[in-house]
Amino acid sequence: MSESYDVAIAGLGAMGSAAAYHLARRGQRVIGFDRFAPPHDRGSSHGESRIIRVAYFEDPRYVPLVKRAWELWLELESESGADLLQSTGGLMIGPREGVLVSGALASASAHGLPHDLLDAEALAARFPAHRPNDDDVAVWEPQAGVLDPEACVATHLEGARVAGAALRFDEPVDGWQANGAGVRIATGRDSYRARRLILAAGSWLPRLLREPLFPLEITRQPLVWFAPTVPIEAFDAERFPIFIREHEPGRFIYGFPRRAGRIKFAIHMEGEATDPDQVRRAVSDDEVEKVRAILRRCVPGAAGECVDRAVCLYTSTRDQHFRLGPHPAHPQVLVASCCSGHGFKFSSAIGEVLADLATGARPAYDLNPFALER
Ligand SMILES: Cc1cc2nc3c(=O)[nH]c(=O)nc-3n(C[C@H](O)[C@H](O)[C@H](O)COP(=O)(O)OP(=O)(O)OC[C@H]3O[C@@H](n4cnc5c(N)ncnc54)[C@H](O)[C@@H]3O)c2cc1C
Repeated sequence: MSESYDVAIAGLGAMGSAAAYHLARRGQRVIGFDRFAPPHDRGSSHGESRIIRVAYFEDPRYVPLVKRAWELWLELESESGADLLQSTGGLMIGPREGVLVSGALASASAHGLPHDLLDAEALAARFPAHRPNDDDVAVWEPQAGVLDPEACVATHLEGARVAGAALRFDEPVDGWQANGAGVRIATGRDSYRARRLILAAGSWLPRLLREPLFPLEITRQPLVWFAPTVPIEAFDAERFPIFIREHEPGRFIYGFPRRAGRIKFAIHMEGEATDPDQVRRAVSDDEVEKVRAILRRCVPGAAGECVDRAVCLYTSTRDQHFRLGPHPAHPQVLVASCCSGHGFKFSSAIGEVLADLATGARPAYDLNPFALER
């Protein structure tokens, strides 16, 4: 049995690295474990870019949290000197009554967020790479952009390390046991004691929850990079900011401004169920073609040669909303399942919330929408 800690963290990806950062900077004695050596490409936090947007179509109740996340990303950038967030503005494109546009408008109006509503003609004039349908509209919001997920995780981890956190890579947590008011944590190498344990294992969370608290589905999500068929400048951020498009009712494609000579796109959801230890990592030509076929209709100049591909994991709850809070039977254990394919942008703020919960401070947000038991 090694020494005792204030907080142990199982999983140092997006959520765990941010929690380690905030806790260590509050003077907590922190130990963090990861199955691999983050940032890595086995979980949910890799692939060069993540969208951050504020007019949140999923639910207006996420808006205060994402505004705080934006502030914290900027703070982290200025403290570390790292490039983490590129502000591009963003477009939510689709039918006026679709879930994407109507949801983004509902959040914008509930929180008084700056935005413009463009009809199809105005969209095509201002952002010419897009080919909207006649009845499509677009919500343009200036506060949206691109986060670099690998750099964000690395920067949080480095900040945590500098503030005194012990970070153990390639040392998975095998199990834990509530022990009085604290927790005992077992890894293959040793056992540890802590007053609190944060479970932030992403797609592996079900393995660490001995009895399932809520259903989670792990899916395999292909990412595809294309070389355009038109000059690459058409995909500069000013002309081609981040976008999501509801190209058929309830079906979404999203993309990013160019990085060097290539542009990244992916389909949101629709991935096949998988086991995080047995993921089919190769993306097939058929999967690339599925993305390209949508681009031919929606962003035809981007539907060129596929120059790279990767697989990333979603860990989704049934309603696609996060689960975040104390374990119902063991309040010293905090559970953070903030994926469902849209968690990265929040991770800076989730780290702060987890630090609040682990130290008995009251988070500044209503966490009821994310309660474990509903
Ligand atoms: C294709 C794709 C696109 C996405 N796009 C966006 C987007 O544009 N915007 C957005 O906001 N979100 C997006 N997301 C979602 C976002 O990336 C996730 O919500 C977020 O990365 C989840 O972070 P996490 O910390 O829960 O998981 P991870 O970052 O995967 O971290 C979990 C960590 O736990 C470790 N681990 C596992 N088991 C153990 C164990 N037993 N002991 C110790 N460590 C363990 C793993 O090695 C891993 O490092 C996307 C996700 C994917 C896959």
